[in-house]
Amino acid sequence: MHAQTTPITTAAIAAALSTARAKVADNKRWMTALNKASLEIISTPWVWYGHTLKIKSRTASTTWYSVTATSCGCQAFAKGNACWHRAAFKLLSNAQNVTPATPATPATPATPAPVARDSQADVDFLFN
Ligand SMILES: [Zn+2]
Repeated sequence: MHAQTTPITTAAIAAALSTARAKVADNKRWMTALNKASLEIISTPWVWYGHTLKIKSRTASTTWYSVTATSCGCQAFAKGNACWHRAAFKLLSNAQNVTPATPATPATPATPAPVARDSQADVDFLFN
């Protein structure tokens, strides 16, 4: 099990993934990042701190990236590219907000609520 401050269930992650996939359907690079995140989140060690995600690098075994809603410590982010770490952050962040007490109810396609905009336009476009 992954260490985490707030329980994030596999079902909640699955729900967040489903929602996120719909939102990035038109954006190939974020869809790729999201799909990678959905796999890596299972096999890569990570720790969720509520507003920060620490996740282990796949390529540098001693490196852990610190990921927030608007930043990541990896090289892809430094180059301004989509990275799966931030996709993973969004998945976990959204999963955290999934109410566990609503099991079999089909999710109503919710009208996106007004949210504070990130400085990263990509993230807004894709996930909000
Ligand atoms: Zn990254």
